[in-house]
Amino acid sequence: MGNIIDGKQLSLRLKGEMAEEVKALDAKYGRVPSLAVILVGENPASQSYVRGKIKAAGEVGIKSDLITMPADISEEALLAEIERLNNDNLVDGVLVQLPLPKHIDEERVIDAIALEKDVDGFHPDNVANLWLGKPCVEPCTPKGIMQMIAECGFDVAGKRAVVVGRSNIVGKPIAKLLLDANATVTIAHSRTADLGAVCREADILVAAVGRKHIITADMVKPGAVVIDVGVNRDTETGMLCGDVDTAAAQEVASYITPVPGGVGPMTITMLMKNTIECFLNRIVK
Ligand code: NDP
Repeated sequence: MGNIIDGKQLSLRLKGEMAEEVKALDAKYGRVPSLAVILVGENPASQSYVRGKIKAAGEVGIKSDLITMPADISEEALLAEIERLNNDNLVDGVLVQLPLPKHIDEERVIDAIALEKDVDGFHPDNVANLWLGKPCVEPCTPKGIMQMIAECGFDVAGKRAVVVGRSNIVGKPIAKLLLDANATVTIAHSRTADLGAVCREADILVAAVGRKHIITADMVKPGAVVIDVGVNRDTETGMLCGDVDTAAAQEVASYITPVPGGVGPMTITMLMKNTIECFLNRIVK
């Protein structure tokens, strides 16, 4: 029976460590890192994610500002607010909660965030730097996944990794981070033939699809580390669940992340890490 990688517990520990770090930064530089979060509209899921981010900032001692804008705000007004935050020397991180209302061009908005304040790691120059192996802000979900794998004491080098999903925010960047850690990486997607056979080759299996239990126990190689990124609503129980049939897969895996309480909390915790990184990069410049 595999071990659960408790993302909530790990997050608590990391946030405790970061809180100490922030105190030391305050003593050294006379201010704490600061994060501006822009929320457009009243999407309940986005409101809940943003609440989690603001709460985590408070726990770590990071100064946070929540800027709410109505759903019908113009793109120009949103861009002007980003510009204001880019120019505010006391703001270290700028985050625009996605998705945005349809009339706003998300790409244009992400492009507008100053590279050195891009705490989500979504800016195209950040993405380019990640793929070129240059210093960059790593996107939060993949960064959290790597921390969780490291936490198991699992040596990624030379292992087979399979990432199911090829989105820009999870699938592609986690594949790159695993590659950087010297895994041999396969990216699977909706057109992959015989997904089960591909997954069974994985020493590290990352599921980032968004479909309940697409990964069943028979798709898991015995002893594999299984990371479940998916967040789905079980239509029968109304409960949150991941992409992996966790209870059954746990019988086969060596380590597995739960949903909820796995990758989700770690994503928010890595946002705090990125805010501290951006603060340091800016202040020592
Ligand atoms: P996207 O919808 O952008 O991407 C989903 C990927 O899954 C696509 O690449 C798609 O392939 C692939 N896919 C769809 N169906 C299949 C299939 N039958 N077999 C194999 N692959 C398939 O999702 P995201 O990457 O944004 O998110 C994935 C999940 O992770 C969601 O549930 C999301 O809520 C969750 N998530 C959780 C986070 C957290 O912090 N816990 C953070 C971000 C996301 P194709 O490209 O061919 O269409």
